[in-house]
Amino acid sequence: MLYHHAARGLHYSGIAALARKLLARKGCFILNFHGVNREYYPNLPPLAQTGFTVAEFEAILSWLQKRFTFLTPEEALSGQRSGVLLTFDDGKQNNFTNARPLLEKYNAPAIFFISTQPVLEPDNWLHFVKTRALTGWDSLEEIPDDVAADLYRGLTAEQVRLCAEHPLITIAAHTVSHPLLTDCDDKSLAVEVNESKRILEDLGGKRVDWFAYPNGVYNRRVMEAVRSAGYKKAFAVISRRLGDEPFEITRVDISFPHPYYLDAKLCGLFLKPFTGFAEKSGL
Ligand SMILES: [Zn+2]
Repeated sequence: MLYHHAARGLHYSGIAALARKLLARKGCFILNFHGVNREYYPNLPPLAQTGFTVAEFEAILSWLQKRFTFLTPEEALSGQRSGVLLTFDDGKQNNFTNARPLLEKYNAPAIFFISTQPVLEPDNWLHFVKTRALTGWDSLEEIPDDVAADLYRGLTAEQVRLCAEHPLITIAAHTVSHPLLTDCDDKSLAVEVNESKRILEDLGGKRVDWFAYPNGVYNRRVMEAVRSAGYKKAFAVISRRLGDEPFEITRVDISFPHPYYLDAKLCGLFLKPFTGFAEKSGL
């Protein structure tokens, strides 16, 4: 709440816009989204429908378009152009059905980080939400099928293939079953990082070089497993600065659609934009 008060102050005073000109002129904010739902369902608890609605997501894209350039992953990671890179975690079907048309409308490239189990078991996300995110709330069975699909269902295998071929979308891995990787033993950690890569490469017909840690949680052992599986980069949310920059890329979690929130979050005062990987000096 304090953050929101401060954010409003920065927004309405014009300080955020000024700070962005001074502090965020160069570099890239890598933004992290999840679901984009068709609409808000007033009969469901708010916790059961995380993510933005289509209308909210379009308002965010419109706000971003006026202030930033939408970058390809290569442009963002090389540090050669300034702007924003969009990323979506989990691989929900609504990324394809609801977010993709807007990415096309705004010509905005994106990375889709996909957990593979829900691709092979289409209703697995419903199970995930029910058992983990909403423990104690047992009325999900009453959600109409089309609403549950809009909120929770994973991408189909065919949609993964279409995403892999799409000029604006890069598919990347987000484990098989979305565990906290730091809790996995070595064997299940290896399965989560290796199998998700293999399955996505099979479905998409392209190399998968990038990975995002579920909930942004990682440690040295997890980073090493991801590197050993053959990935070239891994995305966190907040970098722990464990000394391996390409495997702990910071992203900005976008939780609210309001202009004052975006203005404050992306002004450079709290988070510096990413400016490419530091040259290894060898010292
Ligand atoms: Zn996730």
